[in-house]
Order: sequence, then C-alpha cells, then structure tokens
Amino acid sequence: MLRRAIREDRNPFSIFGFTPGFQRLLIFVRWTSYKCPHCGHVFRRDFWPGSVRLGSGQRTCQECGTLFDDGSREWPELAFESKLRLFLPPLAIGIWCGFLAAAVASLYIGPRDEHSWGVVFFVSAVGLMPAIAWSPVPLTRMIYSIHRYKARGDRDAR
Ligand SMILES: [Zn+2]
Repeated sequence: MLRRAIREDRNPFSIFGFTPGFQRLLIFVRWTSYKCPHCGHVFRRDFWPGSVRLGSGQRTCQECGTLFDDGSREWPELAFESKLRLFLPPLAIGIWCGFLAAAVASLYIGPRDEHSWGVVFFVSAVGLMPAIAWSPVPLTRMIYSIHRYKARGDRDAR
C-alpha cells in the first residue's frame, strides 16, 4: 500500500473576519494544499474545496522521488457524487441556483396573467449554459481516464 498524500486546508486570512473594512473579504481566500507524505513537498493547491481529480492515484514526488497515492482516482472508481461533481463544478451550480432563484422570484413579482412555469423552465435552462459550455472539458478528461483504467486492467490481467 502506498502512503496517502497529506491534505491541509489553509485559510490564512480568517483573522480578518474580525476586523471592519474591505479586508474582511480576504476570509474567502482559502485553499487546500496536498503534500508528499515522505518529504512534505507541496505538489498541488486547490482553490475549490473537495475538487475531484482524475488519475491513476500514483505520483512520484519531484523532490524525493518516492511513489505515493495523490488521492486521484479513475472515472470507473469514482462514486456517483464525485462523477456528478466533475461535470457540475461549484461555480456552475452557484450560477444555476442564481438563475433558478431569479426565475422563481419572477413568479411572485410579475403580474398574475404573466405567471408562467415555462419562463421558469427557460431561465433555469439558460442558467445551465455555463455547465454545458464547460462540459467538453470533463468529458475529455473522462474519456482519457476510462482509457487509462482499461489499459491498467489489461496490464494487471496479464
Ligand atoms: Zn517527497
């Protein structure tokens, strides 16, 4: 068994949450560092919490040359939520929820005869556009991942 990468959540500006003024916004600057379990070399920083990475899970440290488990998994090994998350990143979900909220609000604000669930449906579809525009990226990664997974299976079977 390979040792797993060390995960550290960093939120260095959280102290500014207690101060007045614009620097308060710095509390939203946070990231997750992933370190080699042998020498502590940082090999990746993620600015979204809990990002899903596709890969074989094996990585050789650039610093000390040791093989370790970097936490990435291939598509067939992922849980359903992780698969969904790859196609709907938090930003896309945020945009979609914004559009949905606006559409639902319009039901209450608009005149009664203009109430229409069709509008709600249309606006929510428009809100999904960023996710659809983004989808070729995870789709390509998914196809590569499945190929890698199959190649590994064939190799192990031999
Ligand atoms: Zn190392």
